[in-house]
Amino acid sequence: MTDATADILDRAADGARLTPAEGVALFDAPLPELGAAADARCRALHPTPVRTFVGGRNVNYSNVCVSACTFCAYFRGPRHREAYLRTHDDLLADTAEMVAVGGTELLLQGGLHPTLRLPWFETLFAALRAAFPAVQVHALSPSEIVHLAHLEALSVDAVLDRLIAAGLQSIPGGGAEILVDRVRAAVSPRKCTADAWLDVMRRAHARGLPTTATMMYGHVETLPERIEHLARLRALQDETGGFVGFIPWPFQPGNSTLGRRTTGDTGGAAFLRMLAISRLFLDNIPHLQSSWVTLGLKVGQVGLTFGADDLGSTMMEERVVSAAGTTYRTNAAELTTLIAAAGFRPAQRTTTYALLRTFDEVTV
Ligand code: SF4
Repeated sequence: MTDATADILDRAADGARLTPAEGVALFDAPLPELGAAADARCRALHPTPVRTFVGGRNVNYSNVCVSACTFCAYFRGPRHREAYLRTHDDLLADTAEMVAVGGTELLLQGGLHPTLRLPWFETLFAALRAAFPAVQVHALSPSEIVHLAHLEALSVDAVLDRLIAAGLQSIPGGGAEILVDRVRAAVSPRKCTADAWLDVMRRAHARGLPTTATMMYGHVETLPERIEHLARLRALQDETGGFVGFIPWPFQPGNSTLGRRTTGDTGGAAFLRMLAISRLFLDNIPHLQSSWVTLGLKVGQVGLTFGADDLGSTMMEERVVSAAGTTYRTNAAELTTLIAAAGFRPAQRTTTYALLRTFDEVTV
């Protein structure tokens, strides 16, 4: 390791703000030292030994989508024989099942459906809030909200106001991919621009809605573009403070058009590096999730010592990543065991990271 890299790691571990050039330099840092710096930063931000997960269900209300992103193995055209739209009754039943196993977060996302209008979501959210007042309606990524605004010929503000009035409580940070329009033009040309994604989040934060942010890396982006993504999130967080957590994950090449022509490193070591750099660069986003969905529970667990303080959601079901050929499943008992085995005290949290219960006696 060069003296310059060691100096960047020392300063980042102490909480200094990194420049984009320093962030890019960390891709050449030795992984153990990078992980140690991110772990030190995480422990400074979260000094108790508690590490968390959320009890939740990821429900995809429809796979119909007109965006046709090249990395996506999940979507179907409106007339495809595998196209589906879940009914409100289906979604209420899914939520009841989640509540029965102690879940508190309903993460509801779909594609950009060409004919599903705003009242369908308003009725659904109102029914969910009435039937399950303790469940967090965490729904609709910024690209879905921009799409709804186009369908309804309304402003993003008007769509947000109506969804919030109906029961929307927070927004998942999906659809961010890489927040650089050169990359978006290559992998998701019909989705909203980087500015539009950030603008939805800015307007949501202004209304008091907490949101997460994500990054899907390992496809056509350059390393400076990954850092540009982080820098754009960091700048918006300086402005609003509305991001509660950040979740990076690698592109899953299976069954997608893009998968046949990308050679990005989407392995476990690359994930741990990206996680650690995220912790060091995003000095103002409090929580970092080590997502087990794409690389599995064991890599997710190791992420708890590479800067992450959280293992994300129990999910119960997941259709988007599994459409690309990767299927991992878990439950609260397994996540508590993984956290305890990594040397931490497991706790179940809410969507906004309030602790619900800790698990003090976990046998590992
Ligand atoms: S990633 Fe989302 S917006 Fe893109 S094609 Fe898949 S479902 Fe549609």
